[in-house]
Amino acid sequence: MNANISLDQAIRKIPDFPKPGILFYDITGILVNPPAFRECIDRMVEMYEHSHIDAIAAIESRGFVFAAPFAERMGIPLILIRKKGKLPGQTYGCKYNLEYGTAELEVHRADVKAGERILVMDDLIATGGTLNAARNVLEQGGATVSGFFGVVGLPFLNYQAVLGEIPVRTLIEYHGE
Ligand code: AMP
Repeated sequence: MNANISLDQAIRKIPDFPKPGILFYDITGILVNPPAFRECIDRMVEMYEHSHIDAIAAIESRGFVFAAPFAERMGIPLILIRKKGKLPGQTYGCKYNLEYGTAELEVHRADVKAGERILVMDDLIATGGTLNAARNVLEQGGATVSGFFGVVGLPFLNYQAVLGEIPVRTLIEYHGE
């Protein structure tokens, strides 16, 4: 079976959430489907196992779910990028625009090593604003973002323009809302 057919079936599409006009791609349907979840992690490892990545950074909270098994399989550190006010230590922070609303992300300063090549991951890439804010906080610590990954990509929202030259990879793309 085409891998994307099974992934597509596992992703619930919820119209008008969290506000009218947004089609919400809900990855919780992947998490309750062990073959689909395993397929995601297997394909992520296949994509990156020959790349030079020193660490994976993931966005709270759905990004964590995919990044944790990936980090364990790759044998690399997992850096948590969290919403403002959640991390207890000293942080770097960045405000950014969401597809719906605004927010602020933080990372522990101690978790970012200057010179490291970091892959940044979230469950879904829409406008790219969240991943770009993640790049900002990692660069404040002297790291380099070597790639961006989303389980789901919405390229019609032009995230590549926001994310510039850094390669973006996804497992499945949707072309409308
Ligand atoms: P963006 O910063 O615009 O790329 O938005 C990406 C973030 O918002 C991710 O953390 C997603 O989980 C969430 N998000 C944005 N749009 C959607 C959508 N249509 N369906 C599900 N999640 C979304």
